[in-house]
Amino acid sequence: MNTPQLCPVFVNGEWQELRNVDTSPVYNPSTGEVIALTPMCTAAHVNDAVEAAEAAFPPWWETPPVERARVLFRFKMLLEEKFEEIARCNTREHGKTLIESRGDVRRGIEMVEFACGVPSLLGGETIENVARGIDCETIRQPLGVCVGITPFNFPAMVPLWMYPVALACGNTFVLKPSEKVPLTAMMIARLLEQAGLPRGVFNIVHGGRECVEALLGHPKVRAVSFVGSTPVARYIFETGMRHGKRVQANGSAKNFVVVMPDAEIEHSTRSVIEGAFGCAGERCMASSTAVVVGSASKDALPSLAHAAKSIRVGPTDREPQPDMGPLITRQHRDRVAHLIGTGAEQGAKILADGRALQLNSGGFFLGATVLDEVQNDMTVAREEIFGPVLNVMRANDLEAAIETINGSPYGNGASIFTCSGKSAREFKHRVKAGMIGINIGVPASMAWFPFSGWGDSFFGDLHMQGKEGVQFFTQQKVTTTRWFAEGEGNIWSTK
Ligand code: NAD
Repeated sequence: MNTPQLCPVFVNGEWQELRNVDTSPVYNPSTGEVIALTPMCTAAHVNDAVEAAEAAFPPWWETPPVERARVLFRFKMLLEEKFEEIARCNTREHGKTLIESRGDVRRGIEMVEFACGVPSLLGGETIENVARGIDCETIRQPLGVCVGITPFNFPAMVPLWMYPVALACGNTFVLKPSEKVPLTAMMIARLLEQAGLPRGVFNIVHGGRECVEALLGHPKVRAVSFVGSTPVARYIFETGMRHGKRVQANGSAKNFVVVMPDAEIEHSTRSVIEGAFGCAGERCMASSTAVVVGSASKDALPSLAHAAKSIRVGPTDREPQPDMGPLITRQHRDRVAHLIGTGAEQGAKILADGRALQLNSGGFFLGATVLDEVQNDMTVAREEIFGPVLNVMRANDLEAAIETINGSPYGNGASIFTCSGKSAREFKHRVKAGMIGINIGVPASMAWFPFSGWGDSFFGDLHMQGKEGVQFFTQQKVTTTRWFAEGEGNIWSTK
């Protein structure tokens, strides 16, 4: 077994290995092996990174947007060249299958492609003659040093939700990737360097709470983008706001998929299964709850149970690839297994039990699980499980299904499978969630649209992605202008 390497920080264009710091293990979840160590940065390390970003800000802001975009175009080309290598690194430290890792990287590249359009995205508004002879215009300017704090579940995509747009808009950036999956973020950062990004414009620190506290409290940090669990998202939002930062914080989720009696059953059950068990359920847009309406249960339930039992689980760091990989850590796997037991104790019926799975690779595996007859007050219905567990709830009609969804404190995604335009329209109109799917299982919005969580799934005003992302990373300036003919406006004239 190789000795795990300590991850360096990236500050002012230098990769630096920190000495005498606490560390946290990075696992290969397929084998349980420790493959790297993440250093726990202190306030002093954070200060070095923020100071480097602050110093790099003035020249980067003065760089014309089209030149900033050219760096991102080169970055995009390098991402394409290294696509497979990045996906493999992602799979090794996260455990998702290679196909899922490729999707993770592809969604991230789309954010870079979006950010490449920055010259037109920064366009302002002008009105001639807001009063006689007076014109008014808006321009968008960058904020300064921005920070990204990211979760473990999309090591490539989530950091790329943030910094391509922030950098394109003229900001400088400090990223703190999840301590559980720092390697993919670092591999991608090396490409930014190769793309010609000036020193200090982009920096990486590592760590946990102490590092995050230092970023939130640093007086030179202007904005904080966060993605992670709701308790931390709420804390980041409140603390960041108290320190006068602009904050966007995405949190946890419980997403519902309604299967109506008139749904096309094969397509809808396949989508529910893919939505629930893709990335082993470690997705903030996982369709973790199927609400089966009326007679739909007759056909849907046997298909769901059968499909879940046929999912092949195994190590993802080798061929042949399984359908589903391990969970991120042993501790998380044990938590999810425990929740399944709690669900059964509280009255849920287990249609497929993933706890029975036995694999001897040393990894953190759990099989696909389906819990039927889940009620609103059960622990499995209230807590985000974030694992390969599909809850099934029953509803008499669409009205009851909407009531169940709207009773959830979260509001990321909700989908309906139906052939009725009327039901679909009703659903879209009344459901309290920010991303709606109609005959789409995972309605995660793409780079050009906001990733629009509601309720306890989001804290802030401006979401990531799309034009809201550009608004988040810029501040507007309004200029009102009047010009005089020579001598006309000279109030000191003696004539
Ligand atoms: P997490 O909240 O444990 O960690 C997220 C980040 O916050 C990490 O960088 C971590 O180091 C840091 N952190 C953790 N505890 C902290 C604390 N007490 N103080 C300060 N910083 C802290 O989340 P996770 O387990 O890495 O990721 C899974 C969660 O992220 C799930 O709840 C999932 O729904 C959510 N998520 C949400 C979205 C979305 O867009 N809504 C997207 C992806 C993941």
